[in-house]
Amino acid sequence: MNSVPCPSFTTKLLIDGCLVEGEGRAESIHDPSSGKVIAQVREASMEQIEQAIAAAGRAQATWSRTTPQQRSTVLLDIASLIQERASSLARIESLNCGKPLHQALNDDLNAAIDVFRFFAGAVRCQYGQLSAEYVPGYTSMVQRAPLGVVASIAPWNYPLMMAAWKIAPALAAGNTLVFKPSEHTPLSVLELATHLEGMLPAGCLNIVCGGGENVGSLLARHPDIRMISLTGDIVTGQKVLKEAINSLKRTHLELGGKAPVIVCDDADLELVVEGITRHGYYNAGQDCTAACRIYAQSGIHDRLVRRLGDAVSRLRFAQRNDRDNDIGPLISLRQRDRVASFVERALTEPHVERITGAAIPSGSGFFYQPTLLAGCLQSDEIVQREVFGPVVTVTRFDEISQALDWSNDTEYGLASSVWTTNMDKAMHLASRLEYGCTWINSHFMLATEMPHGGLKRSGYGKELSSDSLQDYSVVRHIMARHARLD
Ligand code: NAD
Repeated sequence: MNSVPCPSFTTKLLIDGCLVEGEGRAESIHDPSSGKVIAQVREASMEQIEQAIAAAGRAQATWSRTTPQQRSTVLLDIASLIQERASSLARIESLNCGKPLHQALNDDLNAAIDVFRFFAGAVRCQYGQLSAEYVPGYTSMVQRAPLGVVASIAPWNYPLMMAAWKIAPALAAGNTLVFKPSEHTPLSVLELATHLEGMLPAGCLNIVCGGGENVGSLLARHPDIRMISLTGDIVTGQKVLKEAINSLKRTHLELGGKAPVIVCDDADLELVVEGITRHGYYNAGQDCTAACRIYAQSGIHDRLVRRLGDAVSRLRFAQRNDRDNDIGPLISLRQRDRVASFVERALTEPHVERITGAAIPSGSGFFYQPTLLAGCLQSDEIVQREVFGPVVTVTRFDEISQALDWSNDTEYGLASSVWTTNMDKAMHLASRLEYGCTWINSHFMLATEMPHGGLKRSGYGKELSSDSLQDYSVVRHIMARHARLD
């Protein structure tokens, strides 16, 4: 249904500065908005993965000795390259993910450019403890050193943006990299790789494709990789941790989420409806911070359900003119069916009420109707588990303390929001929510300067911000003995 003209793209991997076809098994890549296969991308073979890791190891010797200014220049060049190619990269992203082109261009691509620019600046102005004579006759200095070869593994929801989140801070900190995109969405980052020649020394950035069980797990257990950074499911995070044990590599895990949205009686209803309609369903709900678990206070509950139901039922998808689409399809048939089965099971509960959606629309592609369910209880599976689709639940509460307890009663700890016109109440809740981020009268907004990451089983390690630079580097103490002249 995507009316975006079919862009040209490559299926070649980037290993040691060379563009090469993978030599492993072929993976079919789909256009989720039509369901059609658009490419076959061959996985990296074991030998190619070894070559990529060895190349990154060799490149490390020189890249780690570059100055922040030199690395900054390279990152700025990559940002400019993405900006110049934004329109074709966005078309590839839109084709491979099914997301509306205007969102790929205005949101994903702009965010990726900004991330490279941010880290280009951040690496040149890092702060730390003062150098001083903490022991008489010895001057201590702190140095931030790169870790070595980093492997980064990305999910499919924002392929190029996630690549930027992982590649920019790792390179900025002086590491070299083996990057693995999701097996579903490799096309935009592979296309970017075709334009990197001459910009980065060979081997600094290698891009290998393939599934998690083959390529991903080999990266996670490889002894020459010093850090593994994963954005993905909790179960994948657990597997990666197990694989990383033998080599004791640093791990950086950005895992799932199930964001609570506390709507108090005194909230601005217009603002809430607009916010949840956009940020509960953006990217078809395939977002770890999606505003998907609403707790609505009794005084506002019925009006909110009615107004939100109206707004959500007007969300547009699968329109012939892509500019008319608010959301795209799910990434795969499997993901669409997984979402549908969550909703089917929820609707077998007598207390759960379908307000809108809850069906697979007719036509091609992996679409699912934007869905709002009310009457949900805290113990329901649909309230407890991450659906990762365009599905939002509403649970009624009376006392604020109840909403707070329910919000924190989960294994996830990534993102949350509070909606009230009373700032004291907002701050009371924000300081007690056990989440990496709490928005007040908003949801989902990211700032590149601010850390993004979870608590509890949503993982650890921060993306974005200068905190991320710290995650991709290690602190060293250098102590110089000097003669005392007094
Ligand atoms: P996934 O865990 O299935 O896959 C993520 C990546 O891990 C893919 O590249 C995959 O190939 C790889 N992988 C899978 N098994 C592996 C293994 N055994 N060893 C090494 N690598 C392996 O997740 P997904 O379905 O691509 O993405 C959706 C998940 O990602 C959701 O749970 C979502 O919440 C999470 N997510 C989190 C954030 C965040 O910032 N916290 C952001 C986006 C997505």
